[in-house]
Amino acid sequence: QAAEAAEMGAAAAPKPGRPGRNRYEREISALLRKMTVDEKLGQLQQLPWSWDTGPGGGGTEAATKAAREGRLGSVLSIYGGKANNALQKIAVEETRLGIPLLYGFDVIHGLWTTFPIPLAQAASFDPAVAATDAEVSAKEARTNGIHWTFAPMMDVTHEPRWGRIAEGNGEDPYLTAELAKAKVLAYQGTAKGRDLKAKDKLAACAKHYVAYGGAEGGRDYNTVIVSESQLRNYYLPPFKAAIDADCATVMASFNTINGVPAHGNSHTLNEILKDEWDFDGLVVSDWTGVQELIPHGFAADGAEAARLGLNAGVDMEMTSTHLVTNGKKLLRSGQISERRLDDAVRRVLRLKYELGLFENPYVDEAAVIGEPTPETRKAARDTAARSMVLLKNDKKALPLAPTTKSVAVVGPFGDSKDLLGAWAFPFAAKKAPAITVLEGVKAAVPDAKVTYALGVDADGKDTSKIPAAVDAAKAADVTVVVVGEAAALSGEAAARSDISLPGGQEQLIAAIAATGKPFVVVLVNGRPLTVGDWLASAPAVLEAWHGGTEAGNAVADVLFGKVNPGGKLPVTFPRTVGQIPIYYNHESTGRPYDPKNKYTSKYLDLPNGPEFAFGHGLSYTTFETSAPKLGRDSVSARALRSGDTVEVSVTVTNTGTREGDEVVQLYVHDKFASIVQPVRKLRGFRRVTLAAGKSTTVRFPLGADDLGFWTNSEDGKFVIEPGDIDVYVGTSSDATAKAALKIT
Ligand code: BGC
Repeated sequence: QAAEAAEMGAAAAPKPGRPGRNRYEREISALLRKMTVDEKLGQLQQLPWSWDTGPGGGGTEAATKAAREGRLGSVLSIYGGKANNALQKIAVEETRLGIPLLYGFDVIHGLWTTFPIPLAQAASFDPAVAATDAEVSAKEARTNGIHWTFAPMMDVTHEPRWGRIAEGNGEDPYLTAELAKAKVLAYQGTAKGRDLKAKDKLAACAKHYVAYGGAEGGRDYNTVIVSESQLRNYYLPPFKAAIDADCATVMASFNTINGVPAHGNSHTLNEILKDEWDFDGLVVSDWTGVQELIPHGFAADGAEAARLGLNAGVDMEMTSTHLVTNGKKLLRSGQISERRLDDAVRRVLRLKYELGLFENPYVDEAAVIGEPTPETRKAARDTAARSMVLLKNDKKALPLAPTTKSVAVVGPFGDSKDLLGAWAFPFAAKKAPAITVLEGVKAAVPDAKVTYALGVDADGKDTSKIPAAVDAAKAADVTVVVVGEAAALSGEAAARSDISLPGGQEQLIAAIAATGKPFVVVLVNGRPLTVGDWLASAPAVLEAWHGGTEAGNAVADVLFGKVNPGGKLPVTFPRTVGQIPIYYNHESTGRPYDPKNKYTSKYLDLPNGPEFAFGHGLSYTTFETSAPKLGRDSVSARALRSGDTVEVSVTVTNTGTREGDEVVQLYVHDKFASIVQPVRKLRGFRRVTLAAGKSTTVRFPLGADDLGFWTNSEDGKFVIEPGDIDVYVGTSSDATAKAALKIT
């Protein structure tokens, strides 16, 4: 056994407690002994299939040929069962060793049933929402022959211009970590633990590692400059949480980190992920990420890119083929070691064993799921409603009375099916198009007269139909204006420099407001928007995001009060793009903003605060939260380090007249430290449902993770320093009620 461990290499040792661990490792060792260098390199190659060229996806000759030659380990974007089995048969029956292929797919927020985008899910402040998506997604995907999802995305960001903000959970590392953990656990197993062999489970992938959300200017793929402490305190925690939840794989990110591309970054991949965190899973490159070491200006050619990528810790190359092409030469010249090559192959094979692919490489074609069911639709509808955020509600403009006699739905997204968001698939949209808001409203108030007028088209350029929308508004008791962003305006390579409502949509709102008739605004979008002057004229604004398959029904549920909205913003909404970056968890300057003092940190032409703060969100009822109480006023750093916690408790009361949800939020501020700390950091949240007049006490433990921080040491130094902590509890990051804790 010791000899075997030595042969594996320390970095490749599997985590204890894995089912079948010893047997798999022995079988992998035996297999490795049989494999030629070409066969080994083949396992490290992933090639794309193509899901968008026809039913079941379209094959690619390159992947089929590589599979036949035993020069392929994995395929991405193949689904449907039949295609998967046909290709698998080639790998299993026609190659010398018959090693099965591993199938990956971007099941980001659903395959057939599309859930609200991940940013929306974050707005639920409810890990159960993320878990519901992951459970349904895993089942739909695995029955379609998919083994592995490239999710969850856990890139925190301060950049609303960055289109990929839609795919993640917003600006906060703690919230993102909690949701990432919930997703990983639900994709990969049950409460009993990881069970990748199960017919309804998937291997998860923590991506994109790391600091991708730091893209300068919000431009996708752009440069990231980040200190070690910022890396560890801000970008890494969700990944650490995912690894602690036993996430099977990690994907490298497209960006550089302080001048070193993430795909060639031994510090983040080898030192932190594989050594410090003891990660025994698979690191996959992003799409041509190894290749891109060349245009980054980091590698001279493909051979060097392959060497740098593999040696930095990338195990599998997606799409580009530098490793499989140059690996043998690199090995011969000693530029890569056999030990490292075997380590990478072992990680691939380990995953295949754990997924049960050696026992049964095929998928049961009779069991393939090919559309949403009533249950998954219900799950999509509930999660979408739970993800909505009531941004504004003057004079109780919402909810609308279910007895309303006539409703005009207006705006480019009022009868649009473009509500699935980034990473929704044409085949799924064809089978189960999104329920539009108009359809949802009609179903919610079947006896009302419901009309529709476009007003402006989705890119907002043609405003000639605004007068017709105004007429519709004049003729109705109430108007629902549905405006926002097309799905194509967020997601990958979809940065915007102007994040207001595109085109003439603001003009449409102004025209409706000018009628003097009651109206409400529904936003559907994949990022924070700058809301502009129209906000003042709108009595109520509901942030509905890109809500997925059941979006329109969920919007109607909230508009007519069947569901009381309880979501909160997982991102700051700036007033203008000029304020970006603006985020709640910023550091303080030596001259914190003071309206009475000219020489403080501010803009001359803008108020300092955001339009809507992180954590903001209203309800149809009202809540009161008591001042936080601490179990004790002081605690020693040493006690914290050995696991001690301080309890924070608050009482929250529904002071209104109907049941509703409140998200109680806990923030801490370390008032002085050896590295300046954020003015607030979210360290706890709980979404509670309370009947009118009812109260509940919410308790949070504050421990080492909450009260310490990472220093700038490259070796990873987490410290808990003596000093004063303000503990805030409330219903947004603006909370003012606080208690004082001393760390001795
Ligand atoms: C994206 C990844 C995705 C991959 C495979 C890339 O362009 O950055 O998030 O998983 O493609 O589709």
